[in-house]
Amino acid sequence: MNKSKIDEFIKKCRESNLSVTPQRLAIFKQIMDDHTHPSPEKVYKRVKEEFPTISFATVYKTLETFEKIGVLAVVTPIHNTVRYDSVTEPHHHLVCIKCKKVMDVFDENLNQLDIPADILQSNKLVAYSVHFNVICSDCLQKGE
Ligand SMILES: [Zn+2]
Ligand SMILES: [Zn+2]
Repeated sequence: MNKSKIDEFIKKCRESNLSVTPQRLAIFKQIMDDHTHPSPEKVYKRVKEEFPTISFATVYKTLETFEKIGVLAVVTPIHNTVRYDSVTEPHHHLVCIKCKKVMDVFDENLNQLDIPADILQSNKLVAYSVHFNVICSDCLQKGE
């Protein structure tokens, strides 16, 4: 378990006047420990094992709140469902078009891409993330 990430989570919640309930903590830990960039459905399934009475709506709303206060990031819409990421620093993604796995890519060069001038001319760039569609090594091995 990543203690400093939990501390940071608690700090950010407090700064946003969000009380750190056992359910909220469980939802956050679930995403932190799951490196697959889980969907809300998956987070709900896991958290329900610990809190059988929790509803999907609660989990969904909590994830949205977490995104607003900056403890989670939403991966650029992929596969028609939102996927959550506990990594909020700049990084990029490999997305397998077969098994829909989402993998993190950390690369300094990608963090410093030359952004086309016409994008910057009329817009203010807030952030960007490069998204590579791939057939992952597992799927290649399975010959799919
Ligand atoms: Zn795959
Ligand atoms: Zn990621």
